[in-house]
Amino acid sequence: MQPHSVYLHIPFCRHRCGYCDFNTYAGLDDLIPAYVQALCHEIRYLAENCGRKPPIHTIFLGGGTPSILPAGEIEKIINQLYQDFNILEGIEITMEANPGRLTYDYLKSLYELGINRISLGMQSANPGELLLLERQHEFHQIANAVSLVRKAGFKNYNLDLIFGIPYQTLESWQLSLELGLSLGPDHLSLYSLTIEPGTPLENWVTRGLLSEPDQDLSAEMYEWASEFLNERGFEQYEISNWARRDEVNGLLTCQHNLQYWRNFPYFGLGAGAHGYADGKRTANVRSPRVYTQKLLTWDEKDNQNNLSFPKTPATASVVTIDRSEEIKETMMMGLRLTEEGISQKEFQARFGTTLEDVFDTQIDDLIEVGLLEWDRMTNDHLRLTPRGRLLGNQVFLRFI
Ligand code: SF4
Repeated sequence: MQPHSVYLHIPFCRHRCGYCDFNTYAGLDDLIPAYVQALCHEIRYLAENCGRKPPIHTIFLGGGTPSILPAGEIEKIINQLYQDFNILEGIEITMEANPGRLTYDYLKSLYELGINRISLGMQSANPGELLLLERQHEFHQIANAVSLVRKAGFKNYNLDLIFGIPYQTLESWQLSLELGLSLGPDHLSLYSLTIEPGTPLENWVTRGLLSEPDQDLSAEMYEWASEFLNERGFEQYEISNWARRDEVNGLLTCQHNLQYWRNFPYFGLGAGAHGYADGKRTANVRSPRVYTQKLLTWDEKDNQNNLSFPKTPATASVVTIDRSEEIKETMMMGLRLTEEGISQKEFQARFGTTLEDVFDTQIDDLIEVGLLEWDRMTNDHLRLTPRGRLLGNQVFLRFI
């Protein structure tokens, strides 16, 4: 069995930010102990249905705000994973954390539990922009969190930043990124703000209370960031992600996200989590209460035959991915990798055919208009050109 990844969804936040459409809830903290118990049950059911301890090489605790969970609850989850899964040596375990409330003792406990990568949602250094996003921290708290992260022993941490915020200027974006970089991160994820349907932000824009992000300005911000980070020694490896090169460990990419972009298997556990294993895409029930109830009241004896791998009692849907769908998904996700792209050799080994045999006209057309290229060193990797990175969605659409 090839190494799998595990995503664990923690759907709790202190406050629901106006731009966020994630499956997360404020004011549900009472549910946390039962939810963690349910998550541990889901881990066990999944491993039992697999018939063996699945080999795991990355784990990601995301949300929501996983750092809302007390260290003791995180410990229960990690212990359960070690008990039921085959945790491979050198595993990457990432946890997202809210920079406003971290303490040294808490971070030290996480580090001792084996969590070795922290992802902090900085978003911006500008107080007005943070206010507009309804984020409940200020830049000095990010700086403080970073020093605690390092002091607790973490060698690898990420900062998330957002650009294209309404009223954000190029100068203010430049300052945020410069200040973020001054904290010495190992990895940066830069996202363009999208107005998600059903969010308060969308409501404000629709009612004319807020102007929509300027797309041209967003593109300018992105291009400036790419050049700036390149000059500062960061290497871009995905449309929205950059990493520092370490003398010992090489490029400090996020191994967990690489699993998604390479279209390799992962288990999605927790309320609303999505997974991809054994050629099937799964989605769990979204409501944390329903999720918890389903797992804690599941009667194993009565339901012995109802859970074919990779289903768990919380699975709401399963879609089988056939070969042609897998090829399309592999293209859509792999082309996000700006250096690696899609390797002809690996594609052939996986699907028994060449890229040109499947996508002859698409590849030729996109190369001709300057959005795709073969890498010059090996001529093996098909990838986006710098212009293609800006127009990624147009490229991906050609492979659907
Ligand atoms: S803290 Fe993050 S996950 Fe929670 S509501 Fe805000 S943006 Fe969404």
